[in-house]
Amino acid sequence: MSRYTGPVCRLCRREGMKLFLKGDRCLSEKCSFDKRPTPPGMHINTRTKTSEYGLRLREKQKMKRFYGLIGERQFRRYVELAEKMGGVTGDNLYFLLERRLDNVLYRSGFASSRQEARQMISHGHFNVNSRRVSIPSYSVKPGDVISVRENSKGLFSPEYVEVIKERTPAPWIYVDYDKLEIKFDRLPQREELDVPIRENLIIEFYSR
Ligand code: SF4
Repeated sequence: MSRYTGPVCRLCRREGMKLFLKGDRCLSEKCSFDKRPTPPGMHINTRTKTSEYGLRLREKQKMKRFYGLIGERQFRRYVELAEKMGGVTGDNLYFLLERRLDNVLYRSGFASSRQEARQMISHGHFNVNSRRVSIPSYSVKPGDVISVRENSKGLFSPEYVEVIKERTPAPWIYVDYDKLEIKFDRLPQREELDVPIRENLIIEFYSR
């Protein structure tokens, strides 16, 4: 199935939470969800109670969309991998998604959204451990260093670096602003993740 290219603010209203798909706009007063947090559509008040299946489906959709509109096939692969890893499957799922290169760039502040990070990576602006990587879903390991490629450093003007500095990196990510390097220090703890999604319902959805 092709990627969703429709209006993204509608997705936040559908899921009843901010998915942060529009970069800095999401943190401004222009955010559509802050202005109108009701579901899209005409018959909001006539909807019946959500079924158990519907609840699980919504949690799955929330997570896929929150982590950058991930496709169904790829997301299912993450769930299967999380099951095979041993330990708590829900936590494993989070860790796999957090290790995506587009997510790490977003968490570091180098991109204002996962969508923007995805585009920057596809355009080939980054190395991982000195090797060019242009796959947004690339899985980063603790200790990996992501750097801006020499030819792309011109895109990061001093003014833009100041903007990046204002976006505080996640505690498990270290940023060297002078070298334009990001170090993925460690995996986050589940409690450190600001994602209000019940991962257990997603695991249940796929184990039907
Ligand atoms: Fe969602 Fe961002 Fe649009 Fe707000 S501005 S509704 S958080 S995508």
